[in-house]
Amino acid sequence: MIQTIGLSKTFHDAEVLKNIDLRVAKSEIVVLLGPSGSGKSTLLRCLNGLEELSGGVVEVNGIRVDAAMKSREKHAKFREIRRQTGMVFQQFNLYPHKTALGNVIESLLIVKKMPREQAVQVGEQLLERVGLADKKDAFPSRLSGGQQQRVAIARALAMEPAIMLFDEPTSALDPELVGEVLDVMRQLAKEGMTMVVVTHEMKFARQVANRIVFMDGGSIVEEAEPAAFFREPQTERARRFLNQLS
Ligand code: ATP
Ligand code: MG
Repeated sequence: MIQTIGLSKTFHDAEVLKNIDLRVAKSEIVVLLGPSGSGKSTLLRCLNGLEELSGGVVEVNGIRVDAAMKSREKHAKFREIRRQTGMVFQQFNLYPHKTALGNVIESLLIVKKMPREQAVQVGEQLLERVGLADKKDAFPSRLSGGQQQRVAIARALAMEPAIMLFDEPTSALDPELVGEVLDVMRQLAKEGMTMVVVTHEMKFARQVANRIVFMDGGSIVEEAEPAAFFREPQTERARRFLNQLS
């Protein structure tokens, strides 16, 4: 579903991703862990072309982008990839002047050119899926952080993505609101969504991930099933990372 081969990313002179080979199978849940600055967000952003690749290959759902391709071709391919990929960030970035429903159906109206009546129907179903059917007419400023993030997830799901990328989706939330967002993500995982998740929620990683990918200094240092990774990390760097958490 997702594959990178020798992916590298350089900002100015700093190589922040080094020769990344990552594979994510259909319906697999991969959690990316690693210290601050290790390249987790940059890796996610390279998967859907929010960052230019410096080297290597990214393939998502059969669409292959090689850093060596002409810029125009790369942009066209990434546009196609983004259409099949939902991304949810730490900051929800909802349109403040649109209701919850308005936010969810925006892409249906604009990108899919769906008739409004039909878009509203789909949007209401999506809000129901994230437990917010009763908030469809609320503006973001009237929603809690957890509710806003669930709207953001519903909005991403509106395009029927084959893959969902999450970059610390609960890090900006008050602790008591984290659970409701993780529950929606658990549900998505159960439904077979392919997901790559950057999170500091270790319980979620342990329970939901099929595989942990641990990064440090722009490289994948270790990959393992969660049980094995948390019980017995194989590298000193991963051990140090886990010890700092507890
Ligand atoms: P965190 O856990 O703090 O979110 P991260 O693992 O997501 O960290 P990245 O944000 O991917 O790390 O950053 C990796 C490295 O790339 C860091 O050294 C960062 O300073 C650098 N970097 C990221 N974006 C840019 C940019 N636009 N320009 C220059 N350097 C950048
Ligand atoms: Mg980050």
